[in-house]
Amino acid sequence: MATTPLTQAELSELTAGLDRLARNLWWSWDQDAQELFQELSPRGWQNLYHNAVAVLRELSPYELRVRLQEPGFAGRVRKVLADFDQYLQTKTTWAAANAPALVGQPVAYFSAEFAFHETLPIAAGGLGALAGDHAKSASDLGLPFVGISLFYQEGYFQQGFNHENWQTEYYTQLHPQNLPLEPVLTGAGVPLVGSVRLQGAVVYFHAWRVNVGRVPVYLLDTNRPENEPHHRDLTLRVYGGDSTTRILQEIVLGVGGVRLLRALGYRPGNFHMNEGHAAFLTLELIREKMAAGMPFAEAGLRTKQECLFTTHTPVEAGHDRFSSDLMRYAAGKFAEGLKLGHEDVMNLGRVRTGDLSEPFCMTVLGLRFSRAANGVSELHGQVSRDMWRELYHTTDASEVPIGHITNGVHLVGWMKGTMRRVWRRKFQEQFPNRMDHDFVTDANTPEFWKKLADPSVISDAEVWSLRYKLRRELIEFARRRLLLQGRTFSQGDFITFDSFLNPDALTIGFARRFATYKRAPLIFDRFEEVVRLIRDTKRPIQFVFAGKAHPRDDMGKAFIQKVIHLSKFSELKGHLIFLENYDIHVARQMVAGCDIWLNNPRRPLEASGTSGMKTTTHGCLNLSILDGWWREGFDGKNGFGIGPDSHPDDVNEQDRVDSENLYRALTEQVIPLFFQRDADGIPREWIQRIRHAWVTLAAQYSTWRMVQEYTQKYYLRP
Ligand SMILES: *Cc1c(COP(=O)(O)O)cnc(C)c1O
Repeated sequence: MATTPLTQAELSELTAGLDRLARNLWWSWDQDAQELFQELSPRGWQNLYHNAVAVLRELSPYELRVRLQEPGFAGRVRKVLADFDQYLQTKTTWAAANAPALVGQPVAYFSAEFAFHETLPIAAGGLGALAGDHAKSASDLGLPFVGISLFYQEGYFQQGFNHENWQTEYYTQLHPQNLPLEPVLTGAGVPLVGSVRLQGAVVYFHAWRVNVGRVPVYLLDTNRPENEPHHRDLTLRVYGGDSTTRILQEIVLGVGGVRLLRALGYRPGNFHMNEGHAAFLTLELIREKMAAGMPFAEAGLRTKQECLFTTHTPVEAGHDRFSSDLMRYAAGKFAEGLKLGHEDVMNLGRVRTGDLSEPFCMTVLGLRFSRAANGVSELHGQVSRDMWRELYHTTDASEVPIGHITNGVHLVGWMKGTMRRVWRRKFQEQFPNRMDHDFVTDANTPEFWKKLADPSVISDAEVWSLRYKLRRELIEFARRRLLLQGRTFSQGDFITFDSFLNPDALTIGFARRFATYKRAPLIFDRFEEVVRLIRDTKRPIQFVFAGKAHPRDDMGKAFIQKVIHLSKFSELKGHLIFLENYDIHVARQMVAGCDIWLNNPRRPLEASGTSGMKTTTHGCLNLSILDGWWREGFDGKNGFGIGPDSHPDDVNEQDRVDSENLYRALTEQVIPLFFQRDADGIPREWIQRIRHAWVTLAAQYSTWRMVQEYTQKYYLRP
């Protein structure tokens, strides 16, 4: 059948459409859209790290027009563009029905990091992943929402290693023209420029807009010609530099962020601080009111009505504290607008007001000027109430007004293509009255999982073959990565690496920041026993590790070094691998391909944890200490728990007990169940656990549920 060639007008419409599509991160959670870009340049897609904007720039306008003439291709582009427009324009969202009061008064969500996609590495870890997923779900739900963060031109560090396998850091430049970023312009078409007072100087910033589906996220950037060089570099790196850089970044984020929103005409109904980094926004809101003639006390009370605070960690280092001198030096000029003396400003960030020895704490400032605050799991809520009793002048933790909302993940965004194709097909078959594009919303509902997890919809044999497929994909991904990262290896390594990892083995994954409380090498405390386990050829197991340590965290780097040494020089070689440069892309491969997701933090320091939630839809089961979300999610049958719902006070004792409990759970439950096969070679009870995890965990630990909870509990001010 001959097809009529497209007209020039049609071609122009489609190329403009593709360009528009590439500049909205919606494509990063729409599979059909990704496949268009991938098909336009399969190698570019891989080498440019799945960057739609960069792939389009690779093609000449002529090539693109010719490619669009391929039979069927233009039709698929039209279908994706129609889905995209329908997504952007639909009026029947959850928020339209459930939160109409927020129209015209959006939630302004401030976060020092946002993880959206691997090509925009402006996050250090879980906090950023959560913020990115929060924004994506706010978009899916149709919530009036605007995000604020910084544009870090060098992003978060890339992980390298020296010859001693000690982590080194290097940075690569991000190029806005190659990213889904648009400069924020004035009506006259020139960059919109704002300023803040820092160290007595005026520091200017402009901003970049990231389109995250329906919601904008603005990234402030001080790299402007008017600024002194050291101020131009202020927003260069995520948590870069020393505490001076940190405080200055936080002033730009909090104060500059509010000013940018005002310049753009926003009148947010809620200012939501994602962790203490953004807490200076409260001082700007107070200053604004004082500039309009309100006295400080009243301005403070009014500001408190507008603000919300989410705390994310009980770990001391997670709470920024600045000395009096640093505050005076960095923020003195800004604070003049508050008409307060220096000690009065300091007291806003002190638990014990008047205690001159106490530094200024950003969390304290945020809590002080928030009408509501929350931790990120039930246990973390309890721990936070206990931690902040003194700030609320009570010894009774139950009187501390900090609640909790347990974290979630943007389910569909984390789903690997292989699995998403399966779930989409089943969805179309099982819910014939729903549209294909409803998948993105419906996959977050308990009904979806209840129906699709049934053996009549997906048989044990199908689940098991999918598990094999996903494990195979991870192994091949890992072998390729090992080859690329194997700087000190030789030619024969092609063969060596292809013998690494066994497609039949129970594959245990561990990947997250190598913060010491997460105790990455805990399992290897029982090295001899683990060696015995990996030598069991009838019941083989293997480990895949990944993660970055903070540049100044030598303990974390020592943990990584230990894991790498074991992987290269011990009996575990070939059965334990370390994947370098952990990021969202590596995370997605691992949460899909592993059978077990291991988490062994020192309780109760894992406030929530989210990586384990990304595994569920892929049929990977959690094996975790009962901390954070898993303490709530685990019901005895949807994965595996390590130890009881309590912990010894002494940390050495805790490490010993946890290592023992971990080993016991692994050898007494996990390994036997995985290798308990019936006549067809299928581990029926294991698969039963996977089904039960789908039903009990997937919808519950989504940001779809989480953002609804924030809306109903907090944003709507009940
Ligand atoms: C999800 C995610 C995290 C968070 O992992 P936790 O186990 O919750 O600490 C960190 N980094 C990346 C890249 C992630 O995708």
